[in-house]
Amino acid sequence: MKTNILPIRTQNNADWSDWRWQMQQRIHSVKELVKCFDLNHDEELNIQEACEVFPMSITPYYASLINKEDPRCPIRLQCMPNLQELVNGCGDMDDPLYEDADSPVPGLTHRYPDRVLLLITNECAMYCRHCTRKRKVGDQNRRVSEVDIDRGIEYIKSRPEIRDVLLSGGDPFVLSCAHLEKIIAKVRAIPHVQVIRIGTRTPVVLPQRITNELVKMLKKYHPIWINTHFNHPREFTPESTQALAKLADAGIPLGNQTVLLKGINDCSEVMKKLSHLLVQNRVRPYYLYQCDLSRGIEHFRTPIAKGIEIMEALIGHTSGFAVPTYVVDAPGGGGKIPVLPNYQLSMTGTKTILRNYEGVICVYEEPAYSGSTCSKACSLCKDGNVKHKPVGLQKLVDPNNRTISLIPEGNIRRARFFGLKGDPHGR
Ligand SMILES: *Cc1c(COP(=O)(O)O)cnc(C)c1O
Ligand code: SF4
Repeated sequence: MKTNILPIRTQNNADWSDWRWQMQQRIHSVKELVKCFDLNHDEELNIQEACEVFPMSITPYYASLINKEDPRCPIRLQCMPNLQELVNGCGDMDDPLYEDADSPVPGLTHRYPDRVLLLITNECAMYCRHCTRKRKVGDQNRRVSEVDIDRGIEYIKSRPEIRDVLLSGGDPFVLSCAHLEKIIAKVRAIPHVQVIRIGTRTPVVLPQRITNELVKMLKKYHPIWINTHFNHPREFTPESTQALAKLADAGIPLGNQTVLLKGINDCSEVMKKLSHLLVQNRVRPYYLYQCDLSRGIEHFRTPIAKGIEIMEALIGHTSGFAVPTYVVDAPGGGGKIPVLPNYQLSMTGTKTILRNYEGVICVYEEPAYSGSTCSKACSLCKDGNVKHKPVGLQKLVDPNNRTISLIPEGNIRRARFFGLKGDPHGR
């Protein structure tokens, strides 16, 4: 067993805590990998084959967290390529979330009414083997150009309804502070943008990146929210803990997005521990993602039932703010759909029957209620601030809306009566 061949972790030198050094020393090839890890010939060939399709990049820091005695080490599984990535699964798609299809300009996805996703780089410090944007990240031919970013920013400017801009990638924090600041400043200068969000995995894979210089810069553009991506309790170290503290001390609300991964965190106990570590570090568990249908990650997928089982073990059993929202990002651009265990057992006009996390069944007596008595006179309605028309199910729920059904496009029964134009009632 080769030990401690990893670049000089033991010496605790200044280089180790320098993020640029960590970036330069990343492991990109099997040749570099075998210097640090005992791999047999087959493993070498397999990794080689996989990283010819999906790039490998492991920071010395993240590599140092790998338990070399454990072939199923959760850190190892997240960063070391595996031949299974080349197996095409049943639903594997290049762009399952239709991020490109919902893209008015390259690199910007406008899916929800009031917020957009803007990809500002396609590079990451480490390439996660389970990445949903696997076909995009690390590809030299798909680099994000400054022109594209500026077009994205122009689009945001032209749409006053956009109040929340999510900067992601790739990993925005691989950019230099100066480069990043230029982009953030442009977005902040748009009057209708209320909140800027950044998605980054650097606190996990390159905590050295969270420098005083970086947080000082970010603070100037508040409100800035950051979501990071911890998947396993073993990713908490003195370094990552310090990185989170710096961000939190800068007044940045922190959230975490975890991906549910077979063999890594598909366990209620692991998830509970992860949630507790997050909140101890002032990070609110935000989303737990069901693994997407992207190409190359089939071997990480669990059934949705596993996620429900985990939610069952969290809700009520631990602090409400330690429980993430479990979501399935719908293939085809439907967006994030929350899924929960069933807590509502039955309902009559006067009673709702619920069960709690312990299985206790109770009755909630409904009040006499004939709808809201609102006269739509408060400033939100009166000043014309509420601009949106009801969409989708809202039309059915709205007491003033006469829509009686929602009918999927191309419904054959409708087409028989109304021809291809569909329903004349405009639904
Ligand atoms: C996830 C996501 C967002 C942000 O969604 P929230 O639920 O507000 O966190 C925005 N745009 C796209 C395309 C997304 O995938
Ligand atoms: S950091 Fe995010 S974008 Fe980059 S490889 Fe990991 S999951 Fe993908």
